[in-house]
Amino acid sequence: MAKKVRIKKRNVGIAGGILVVIIVLIIGLVKWKEKLDYQATSEYKLLSIGYSEEDTTFLIENLDKQHLNNIIENRELNEDIIKFYKQEYFLEKNLDEYLNYVKENPGTSYTDVVAIINVGANKDWYDGSKSTDTTKGSALLVNKFHSLDSDYQPNLVPIKNTYAYANAKEMDEDAYYAFISMFNAAQEDGFKLVMNYSYRNYQEQEEVYNNFKSQYGTEYADSYAARPGHSEHQTGLAFDLIIDSDYDKTNFDTSPKFAWLQENAYKYGYILRYPKDKEHLTGYSYEPWHYRYVGVEIATYIHQHNITYDEYYAYFLEG
Ligand SMILES: [Zn+2]
Repeated sequence: MAKKVRIKKRNVGIAGGILVVIIVLIIGLVKWKEKLDYQATSEYKLLSIGYSEEDTTFLIENLDKQHLNNIIENRELNEDIIKFYKQEYFLEKNLDEYLNYVKENPGTSYTDVVAIINVGANKDWYDGSKSTDTTKGSALLVNKFHSLDSDYQPNLVPIKNTYAYANAKEMDEDAYYAFISMFNAAQEDGFKLVMNYSYRNYQEQEEVYNNFKSQYGTEYADSYAARPGHSEHQTGLAFDLIIDSDYDKTNFDTSPKFAWLQENAYKYGYILRYPKDKEHLTGYSYEPWHYRYVGVEIATYIHQHNITYDEYYAYFLEG
């Protein structure tokens, strides 16, 4: 009897020992597996490259899989990536171009790099020009990279003499009625807005451009006139302005009437299309007299955010 009890006790002891070993092994395996799993995560990899916890979280929450993998495979800490991601007009499809550009042009602000790449201004003007998407109506884009066909026909209406000089005969219908509202508002405030140039067709633009070119060469022509198809005047949505029959444009932007336009044009759907200090984005010299109709919603956004139409289009409208 006594022997049986002893054997039983011993067996229980062995079984218990085995159980403990098994449990310890299982816990070990689970922990080991957990560790391996964690090491396979983007979080672990980013932290071991040297990204801070905050940046790691940001990258995981904001990057698509492909870009996240690229960063991990590079195994190089690149804080530019995060700075670009935090830019208001960041476009993921352009990330590689942003990174290249800032490497080649150190000192350019991140905001400016994003704007330059988004509008394509890192390329030569007119390089790889595309057809304008005319289905966008008054939100279409014509610039040095987007052009209209020679037979593009806007919805034109004749302009009354009250609103224009002889050079401005027709313009887009919506733009025209918006202009009349703006004209009336300006008149109530005591001055007169008159259109000097409005719609110009392809052939007329070709003449303007070729005249410059034959007299002064291509470089000069390109800095003073748009190539045919690339002029906003062909859209019927743009005009050049004269205030109170003052043809002298030298002081155009220092007058209080210009300040009035700066504060009010957007309410009628108009924007100053070629602003100061944005020449590197628009491809045009500052033209305080050239206004473009884009509709009230877009004009209001542009007024509030101080961006060019090229930037707006690249971010919100270009597919
Ligand atoms: Zn103009």
